Amino acid sequence: MAIRVSSFCRKDDVANQYDVLIIGAGIGGLSCGNYLAKAGKKVLIIEQHYKVGGYCSSFDRKGYRFDVGVHSLGSMRPCGHFYRVLKELELEIETVRPEITNYLRCPGYEIPIYKDFARTIDSLKSFFPTEQAGLDAFFARMEQSFASVFPILRDKTFKDVIDATFQSLPLRYIFSLLLGNLGSISSSISALAALGMFREFIADGGYYPKNGMQAVADAFANNFKKLGGEIVLNARVAQILIENGRPHGVRCTDGTYIPSPIIVSNAAAIHTFRDLLSEANLPSQYLEELSRLAYTTSALLVYLGIAKDMKRFITPHCTQWMFKKLDLIYQSYPFAKGGFDDFVVCYTPSFHIPGLAPLGKDCIILITGAPFQPVASVDAETYWRENKELYGNKLIHFFEEYFGDVQDAIEVKEVASPYTLYRYTANTEGSIYGWTATTKQFGPQRLSPETPVKGLYLVGQWTRPGPGVSMVAQSGRLISKMILAQ
Ligand SMILES: Cc1cc2nc3c(=O)[nH]c(=O)nc-3n(C[C@H](O)[C@H](O)[C@H](O)COP(=O)(O)OP(=O)(O)OC[C@H]3O[C@@H](n4cnc5c(N)ncnc54)[C@H](O)[C@@H]3O)c2cc1C
Repeated sequence: MAIRVSSFCRKDDVANQYDVLIIGAGIGGLSCGNYLAKAGKKVLIIEQHYKVGGYCSSFDRKGYRFDVGVHSLGSMRPCGHFYRVLKELELEIETVRPEITNYLRCPGYEIPIYKDFARTIDSLKSFFPTEQAGLDAFFARMEQSFASVFPILRDKTFKDVIDATFQSLPLRYIFSLLLGNLGSISSSISALAALGMFREFIADGGYYPKNGMQAVADAFANNFKKLGGEIVLNARVAQILIENGRPHGVRCTDGTYIPSPIIVSNAAAIHTFRDLLSEANLPSQYLEELSRLAYTTSALLVYLGIAKDMKRFITPHCTQWMFKKLDLIYQSYPFAKGGFDDFVVCYTPSFHIPGLAPLGKDCIILITGAPFQPVASVDAETYWRENKELYGNKLIHFFEEYFGDVQDAIEVKEVASPYTLYRYTANTEGSIYGWTATTKQFGPQRLSPETPVKGLYLVGQWTRPGPGVSMVAQSGRLISKMILAQ
């Protein structure tokens, strides 16, 4: 439903104003909205899409359910960050977690990641018996608090840490492959970000919600409404309106004006500052710094509905990471140029939740890295309209090399390109994780949620603490506290 100006109040109608207006119903925006509404604030979330969740949403085709982006949750143990958000907001999300959460296939090695993480460490030790001390040291450091490792590791990259910890090159390579989830090469990723990723997504990862990822976003949205919050869908913010250096509301693309003295943007930082604000409202130094920040590249996804029981072919029943080269990510990052030939991740959600596919059939999701605009002379929309089927088929062939032919059993095939990710979420160039978690862009060095415009905040993967569902949910918690403290 498009929103109408008559359903909202005028700028001077203070009694009916929203205390806080949030642009975007990704998990970051929804989490922030929940905390603020719980504290008694009158909050409106404005979402351009027809459903909530951003990258954490799902869609249905012919009886199959596919997750758009997020495929696995982490940080859900009782002291995990995501667990704490769910507890504080009294949100119930039922999950399953297979015994083996991830399986890494690379030249010379097949490495299982067990739910019982001690087994993972034992299995790594059996592959690398001379590295026992290094493995113990690495995982002991992983468990240390951020505050205790921050002074030692703040300027170190992940490569610095693994090079200093392990003698074996293949083991360094394997730890780098496991790092794939952070969106860059080991020599640029912050050691602190990497240790956090190992702790929250590898040691404590692999949770999958019953009914698919949309259930997570819906749980946040339903709770927000129960707390008195309001959400409008199909409404795109076109402009954040500023007067005397402070926001007083937003204007949507249909011309609707919605007043509020505090605006929180869950949209990409670059979209927020370049498209929604007039550059005249920002100091030039801030804009220059913004233009120097690096962001992660995008991805190509293939969603397949397969009319056969794939559990017979894909074992163990968990996320499969397939790399053709062992030193990828340690030496070079496949996402930057398109990993079509050397790297595919395969998710199989219906293995764990049978209702996500028709009986005896399965949904398979394939993903690899891909640049937004591979050819400078062709715009991204045109390029991907003309090429996404070709690259989608390459991914299917890659998958078939490992798990056998599926072509004849394909009932549903959808391909999402970097342009698709951009179109549905407005993330800059379809960036998967927002700013790259380099040493200069992680922790306190990541772009601040407070902006040069007083009363305008950022929430989600383009600000602190970082990307991924648990981190952006935390970001919502953090920003709500900032706003409530004023
Ligand atoms: C392919 C892929 C796989 C991933 N896998 C995982 C995983 O397994 N586990 C994990 O934890 N993380 C994963 N991630 C990362 C994770 O999805 C993100 O870090 C996180 O979901 C980002 O949440 P967010 O709230 O910051 O923003 P987003 O999810 O990007 O949501 C932003 C919202 O703002 C809306 N919006 C933007 N501009 C406007 C506007 N002008 N007006 C109105 N609305 C607007 C968008 O429509 C969108 O709904 C994955 C990401 C991708 C792309």
